[in-house]
This record gives sequence, structure tokens and C-alpha cells, in this order.
Amino acid sequence: MEFDVVIGLEIHVQLATRSKMFSGASTVFGASPNTQACLVDLGFPGTLPVANREAVAMAARFGLATGGEVARRSVFARKNYFYPDLPKGYQISQFELPIVSGGSVEVAVPGSPSRQIELTRAHLEEDAGKSLHDAMPNATGVDLNRAGAPLLEIVTEPQLRSPEEASACMRGIHQLVTWIGISDGAMQEGSLRCDANISLKKPGDTELGTRTEIKNLNSFRFVERALHSEILRQADVLREGGTIAQETRLYDPALDTTRPMRDKEQANDYRYFPDPDLPPLALEPGFLEDLRGTLPELPRERRARFRSDYGLPDEDAWRLCESRATADYFETAGKACGDMLLAARWTSGELAGALNRDGLDIADSRVSAADLGLLLSRLRDGSLSGKLGKEVFQAMWAGEGSADDIIKMRGLRQISDTGALEGVIEEVVAQHAEQVRQYREGNTRVFGFLVGQVMRATRGQANPQLVNQMLRERL
Ligand code: ADP
Ligand code: MG
Repeated sequence: MEFDVVIGLEIHVQLATRSKMFSGASTVFGASPNTQACLVDLGFPGTLPVANREAVAMAARFGLATGGEVARRSVFARKNYFYPDLPKGYQISQFELPIVSGGSVEVAVPGSPSRQIELTRAHLEEDAGKSLHDAMPNATGVDLNRAGAPLLEIVTEPQLRSPEEASACMRGIHQLVTWIGISDGAMQEGSLRCDANISLKKPGDTELGTRTEIKNLNSFRFVERALHSEILRQADVLREGGTIAQETRLYDPALDTTRPMRDKEQANDYRYFPDPDLPPLALEPGFLEDLRGTLPELPRERRARFRSDYGLPDEDAWRLCESRATADYFETAGKACGDMLLAARWTSGELAGALNRDGLDIADSRVSAADLGLLLSRLRDGSLSGKLGKEVFQAMWAGEGSADDIIKMRGLRQISDTGALEGVIEEVVAQHAEQVRQYREGNTRVFGFLVGQVMRATRGQANPQLVNQMLRERL
């Protein structure tokens, strides 16, 4: 590579509170335009903002979960700019004293060892409304339902080295905020959006190059694609001896290019100052200590435990900790059957395949973890072969009942009874005298054919290991 890629992300997470950051209006998604914007959100004179305690607790939870420092005292600031979807003429955010500083997330690109990416800060702010350009002919509508919705803006250090790592970082944040229950993570509703800052530099240069910022990327795929196209553009400019303008750009997925949106504004353009309507945010004694006690086991801790306690390979541990629901499912199924590796294989194999096929979330799985555990016990005790197990699983998925019901109804139990198999083997040997002769003359390839005949005669229910062993002895 001719250039080193340097990326830093600013990720906006909508917090899963019921009411807005500074007002009591509802945050429920999908209401008719402007039915969920109260006087505070509309910026009426004489109204005053009041910080949402739950949003503060959620931001603090994030800080604790990432090992950052949660400030006992932080300050809300006004960020002034004009836009039709911002009635007050300013956004309430945090500037000099954010609620969270530092911390890190573990990021893994499949096939590479994971890396800790440091976070600069995470601060609380309110969202703006939305301009609707397609709602009416010849007019733009303004919907202020989202105005004032609580956001946590998470800023990473410029430590990401590729578009793949940037999207993995965004996935890592998505996983963490849903895991600790501070966001619903609904990407299609805009609950997680990202601005990506990117620059190139010559390998070995210690100073970072001039960056551009690609605004408002709302899917993992777009982050990756937008950054790829921006790398090509910047590399072309630099190769021809040009300089990169520090600016804000927009990604156009249809053309797969970025185009300039505006010059990069400097912080002083926003004329930030502490919001005189809000006192400094002071956390009461014991607030953080209480919160710490409610944090679940975190993704990186759980992955580590899956590796050390169950001997799962790193990649499986990552896959099974994709969400808390997946990790819970795997552990429940594993404990129910007493074989964690078997449960790991089935959770990421048969189960993931069926969920994927039907477009279902694991929370809506048609087979519960306990029921999968029972099915896996039938594999462990030899009642079912792997092949029959898959058949039973599909029948469970189709709603035919528990593993034991289906085994009974379909007469699927694996035949591991030597008495029953002896008779079948005798018959097969008698019917295929020619192949038996060939085998005895040293043609071992016909052995597979004879095993196949036994399996066919038992409709696939004979225990394959046992058939192999008994047939060999018989011959
Ligand atoms: P601003 O407040 O203007 O958005 P910041 O300095 O806070 O700028 O940085 C915002 C984001 O840009 C951070 O994620 C940071 O890691 C990233 N960043 C800063 N400098 C560079 C650079 N030269 N190349 C790539 N990313 C950068
Ligand atoms: Mg920025």
C-alpha cells in the first residue's frame, strides 16, 4: 500500500429512554409528523429544559462499560447554527466537559486478531428534527418528532486502519449499546448513525494528513463502501501532488462516490457556550456505584469466559457473543445437554441457518434453547445420528413438537441394538454375495457399498459406527 489509512468515527446512538433529553415528549418512533414535539422541543420562549435522568444514567453506563472516566460534574453547552429542523437555533450538547472521557472498545475484523480502539469521549446531546423532501410536491416539510431525542455521541481516536475495521468498530459499538440496554440499535430507524473522518499519509510519516468527514452513514455496509471510495479519491489527489481540502462530504450510494457538502466548520463557528438554562450536571454520591452493580457481564468478559471455560476457539466466541440473546441461548442449550462444544456448533450452524432463512431474530426463534438442549441430549446418548438430528430439528422448527415427540411419531430412533442389526447384516450379506466375495479378495472399496445397503434397509436409522464395526467383523 502506497498510503496509510487513518480513520476516526463519531457515532450517534439514540438512547432508549421513553421521553426526550430535555422534555417529557414521547420518543416512540413512527408517529405522525409533529405529534410528539412539545413546547420545549419547539423552542417556545419561556420554556425551560430539564435533563432526563435516565439518559444520564445510560451515558454513565456506557462509560463504565468501556472503562472510561465518568465525570461527576459535566456541562451542557449550546452549539449554535441555523437549520429549518432546529427551531431553537441551537442544539444542546456537551463541549468542554463531556460526561464520559476515554475508554475503549474491542474490535475484530474476521481473520485478524482483535484490537482495542481507544475512545476520545462520549457526550450527551439532543437530536434535531427531520426535513422531509418527498412528503409533499413542491415543498419540504419539517417533522419535529425527533427534535430533542436523546443522543450519545461517541468519538473514537483516529486509530482505525481500514474501512473494514471502521465498520467492525461500528458493529462493536452497536453490539455494546444494545448489550447494556441503552439503545434499541434499530439501524433502519436511525438509532445508530455515524460520521467517518478519514485521511491518508505516507507510511512512516508521524503527522496525520488532512481529513475529510463523511456525514450521516446509517449502515455498516455504507460506512465501508463510503470509506473505500473516499480512499480512492484522496489517493488520486495526493498522487497528482494535490492537497486535500478539509471539508464535510456526503456519500451517494447510487454513484458510489462522495461529494463535497460544505467546508468543514471550526468549533468556533458554533460559538459554543455553557447553556444558561441548565445547571452543571452533577452526579449524586453513590449514583455510579449503584449503576456499576447493574451492569451485565460485558461482551469481552463473556468471550474470554467462553474461551477459557468451554474451550471455544476465538472466532466461535466472537460469533456466539454477537448479541446477549445469542450468548444466552448457547449457554442454556449447552447446559441442558451437557456438551458446550456441541451446543456451540448447533447454535452457529443449524439454528443460525434456520433463523437466517426465515429472517428471524434469535429472540423469535421457533425452537427454544431448552428444546434444542433436549434434542442435543438425544444425539449425545446415541438415540439420534447427526443426520437424523437435523431432520428432527427441522421438524421442531416446523412446530411438530419436542424432539422426543418427533422421534416417537416419525419412528426415527437410531438403531444401536446389535440384535436388531445382526439380522439386517445377515440379509445384506446373503443378497450381495458377489460384493462380499470381492471384499474378501481384497477389494476394500465395496465395503462402503455394503454399509450403504444396511443403512438403506434401516431407512437411515442404523447407528453408522456400529454398522461399520459389526459388518467388518461379520466379513
Ligand atoms: P471535530 O470536533 O471537528 O469533529 P475532532 O478533532 O473532535 O474534530 O475529531 C473528530 C473525529 O475525527 C475523531 O473521531 C478523530 O479521531 C478523527 N480525526 C481527527 N483527525 C483525524 C485525521 N487526521 N485523520 C482521520 N481522522 C481524524
Ligand atoms: Mg465532528
